[in-house]
Parts: sequence; C-alpha cells; structure tokens
Amino acid sequence: MNSNPRLNAILLKIKKMGYSLTPQRLEIIKIISESKSHPSATDVYNKVKELYPMVSLNTVYKNLSMLASLHEVKEIKTMQDSVHYDGDISLHGHAICEKCGKIIDVEIDEFDFKRFFETKIKNKLNENYRIRNYGVEFYGLCGGCDKD
Ligand SMILES: [Zn+2]
Ligand SMILES: [Zn+2]
Repeated sequence: MNSNPRLNAILLKIKKMGYSLTPQRLEIIKIISESKSHPSATDVYNKVKELYPMVSLNTVYKNLSMLASLHEVKEIKTMQDSVHYDGDISLHGHAICEKCGKIIDVEIDEFDFKRFFETKIKNKLNENYRIRNYGVEFYGLCGGCDKD
C-alpha cells in the first residue's frame, strides 16, 4: 500500500468491480488521484506517455470515463466543450473561466447546501427525492481574462 488515500480507494473499487489493473491503468489512476489541476484527457495522456510511450489517447479517455462511471472521478465540462477530470470527489464546486477554461476549486458548506436544497428545490420535485450526488459550477471570467 501507499500513502495516497484517493489512490487506495480507487484501486479497491477497481478490484471490487472486477476490472483488471494493467500498468497503464495504474499510471492513469495515479496521475488523476494526485492531480489538483483538473486535467483534460490529453493532459493525462501526455503524462502517461512519458512512462508508456505506446499508450493511446483513446485508452486514456476510456479509463477516465470508466472511473467517472464508478463515481471515482468527476467530469467537468468547460464552455470550450472540453471535458476535464477531477480526482478529488469530495464536495466542492468549480469556478470555470469562459474564456481560458481555467478551473478553480470553490469550497462549499455541505450543511448550507443541503438546507438550500430542502427549502428551495425539494418542494418542486417528487417529495421522496433523495440527493445522492451534486455539483456546483460557476461560469465567468477569471482575473487574468477579465482585464482585457
Ligand atoms: Zn480565464
Ligand atoms: Zn475540483
């Protein structure tokens, strides 16, 4: 075992779901579990290639989609229609720049957010609705892009 709890959690899930762990897959999981920068599939691909030059972008993309379907990474869509990946699945929001696509983590208070849902949204839905997952995206201009 190692000292990265996200990596261990993902590896455990992979094993439980019966997926094999190829060296490339392990490397992709390592990269995404350590990354704080919300990389795109191409960013991850460029890193994996340093160790496994034969890896294809499609393999990287498929692995990231598989991890997203297991809820072990979050997919974030920018206005540029590119998909970025977040290995940090703890509750937080994202501020996404509409111009350069930069993604910044935004802290969210879980209690406030649940109360907001209960009071403002739940009444409009089926009353048995149970939230299992949610995300908050803010779109705008980052400090660098707002200048010009
Ligand atoms: Zn920007
Ligand atoms: Zn994030």
